[in-house]
Amino acid sequence: MSKTIAINAGSSSLKWQLYNMPEEEVLASGLIERIGLKDSVSTVKFAGNKESETLDIHDHHQAVKILLDDLIRFEIIANYDEITGVGHRVVAGGEIFKESTIIGEKEILEIEALSALAPLHNPAHVAAIRAFEEVLPEVLNVAVFDTAFHTTMPAKAYRYPVPKAYYTENQVRKYGAHGTSHFYVSQEAAKYLGKPVEELKVITAHIGNGVSITAVDGGKSVDTSMGFTPLAGPMMGTRSGDIDPALIPYLVAERPELADAAAVVNALNKESGLLGISGKSSDMRDIIAGYEAGDEDATLAFDMYIDRLKKYISQYFGVLNGADALVFTAGVGENSAPVRQAVVEGLTWFGMELDPEKNVFGAVGEISTVDSKVKVLVIPTDEELVIARDVERLKAK
Ligand code: ADP
Repeated sequence: MSKTIAINAGSSSLKWQLYNMPEEEVLASGLIERIGLKDSVSTVKFAGNKESETLDIHDHHQAVKILLDDLIRFEIIANYDEITGVGHRVVAGGEIFKESTIIGEKEILEIEALSALAPLHNPAHVAAIRAFEEVLPEVLNVAVFDTAFHTTMPAKAYRYPVPKAYYTENQVRKYGAHGTSHFYVSQEAAKYLGKPVEELKVITAHIGNGVSITAVDGGKSVDTSMGFTPLAGPMMGTRSGDIDPALIPYLVAERPELADAAAVVNALNKESGLLGISGKSSDMRDIIAGYEAGDEDATLAFDMYIDRLKKYISQYFGVLNGADALVFTAGVGENSAPVRQAVVEGLTWFGMELDPEKNVFGAVGEISTVDSKVKVLVIPTDEELVIARDVERLKAK
């Protein structure tokens, strides 16, 4: 019996899921929040139970110990030896990591050195990896990179039209994100369509709080909407997505609360998107409730959001010169029939048609009509499962 933990560490949080492998059975999951702050909260879900506890957790090392002790306390495992692998989601793998990798000291230093590309995330990943190394020294650690799936993009897609030295000297290029999700749903799409992924062109739309669209040709990412950072692309929950970069110095000059470029980027990341336009919420459910109640700002927020999604999806029909399927995934993509309807209704020229009886809340699989030339699918994403599978695969090596 071997158990694998999939870890998603943020600067003050640790999200985890415990699997029985290779059965791929989820035994427990949990979230430790407010690490390093007062009143940290650890929540554990297992076998229909949910246990929550407020404690002071000073760092990731302590969080890992609490997580492991909870597994024993709730009798989810009998001892630490049952855990044979830990998979870590890592946001930035730069150009170094093209696939999931067993982590040794060299890899830790490389992930740390890539912190400039993900200043909030990579240091947190390193803290979590070090914590597991200390608490479970015998156990294999594997890194699964958000950027790895996108390392197949051609230079014409990943380079920005800026002076070459910015790339050669400063690593300025598109890295993309959500790669594990785009990989998983494009593979699953091939199963639904009954064809090898190598023979398919798929546009994958990961629409959650963050939004990214990817053009997948023969199972490989050839273009994606997130860029040097996850700020680029369509409009998101709190992120602006693409804007004219000349706005940045203009806003610094005009708005007293925006002291410098970093302050503007912070506002573009945290106060923009659906939240910025509606003035109320970043949650699509609130936006839809708002426009149903006749709120003008919520209506504009919804219309802008759909407009940007349509533009990116249309672009990728161009990049791929046609596609076999459009896949919706993540919080909004999986759950919001109105968003899917508004997007597809505006793109029927590309040969997509939704079946209104299939495009409902809870839908999974094909939601297009039998005659739809381009199939439209809803596929729940499962990044943790990809992480657990990669640990299992690399352990076997
Ligand atoms: P993240 O990008 O943080 O992983 P998720 O993929 O979980 O986020 O997506 C979260 C978002 O999904 C919420 O902010 C909310 O807007 C949206 N969402 C969840 N359920 C629904 C629903 N039934 N209808 C519309 N939007 C939904």
